[in-house]
Amino acid sequence: MTFRADLHCHSIFSDGTSSPEKLIGEAQESGLLGLAITDHDTIGAYARAMPYAKSQNFPLISGVEFSSLFEGESIHILGYAFALESPHIHALCAKEVIMRAERNQRILMNLKKLGIDLPEEEVSMHCPQGGVWGRPHIAHALVQRGIISSIKAGFDQYLAEGKPAYAAVVRPSCQEVIETIHEGGGKAVLAHPHLIKKQRILKRVLELPFDGLECYYARLPPDRCEPFLRLATQKKWLITGGSDYHGAMKRDNPLGASWVNEETFRTLHTLFLSHE
Ligand code: AMP
Ligand code: ZN
Ligand code: FE
Ligand code: FE
Repeated sequence: MTFRADLHCHSIFSDGTSSPEKLIGEAQESGLLGLAITDHDTIGAYARAMPYAKSQNFPLISGVEFSSLFEGESIHILGYAFALESPHIHALCAKEVIMRAERNQRILMNLKKLGIDLPEEEVSMHCPQGGVWGRPHIAHALVQRGIISSIKAGFDQYLAEGKPAYAAVVRPSCQEVIETIHEGGGKAVLAHPHLIKKQRILKRVLELPFDGLECYYARLPPDRCEPFLRLATQKKWLITGGSDYHGAMKRDNPLGASWVNEETFRTLHTLFLSHE
């Protein structure tokens, strides 16, 4: 059996629909031999995920997907194998939560102006303590109300940039996020580089001190991975990959759709264990 470890997935602590325990169960069922849970701006899932993984003897490493901004463009940065107790990581998560809460308020206010009165509790009720919510959860609440037919429609009609309920967001810089991951003893990886459409931005972002590049992503065809594989090899960066599984929130990304090999996982796992 080929060794596969999925390094990109979301739990109910952000915009996934599986509990931490279910996610590990799904990883085992999919034949994955390693996993990192990369919730948006929170490591809340790990308080449950780590003890459960240990009880199952399943190799789980720390992970997170931080939102950042580079010259006004949204950039996602994955952190791996940092110490789960790192005060630097905890502080950045807390800061992102504050920025999100403020932005969520502005989105809900914009919806109110459009005649949709969505109380915060109606959006946050599916999100556990220590979890973060954002636009996908707002879209989900709108679907449950029957206002729109799908999460995608929620973005297309209300929440995407330029749409009537959109609110701009304040986020940490890429530099700050990379530095924080390093302070936590982890590796910083540029997530889904193919989604950065402006080549000028991509070029400059790739000059930042990352340790790895997410070359394999969901069901991205091999010819789209190729340029990033070459780049990561050239820079001697880690080549990482993952499904970006979101459960029922995004049905087209099954867990295990992309993965890393044994060597890459072992490198990160060894680093992670060194903090314990
Ligand atoms: P937020 O962090 O609140 O800005 O929400 C961003 C998340 O929403 C992304 O990580 C995606 O998972 C999801 N998302 C962004 N654009 C769309 C879209 N057009 N349709 C569905 N989901 C989207
Ligand atoms: Zn997401
Ligand atoms: Fe992302
Ligand atoms: Fe993601």
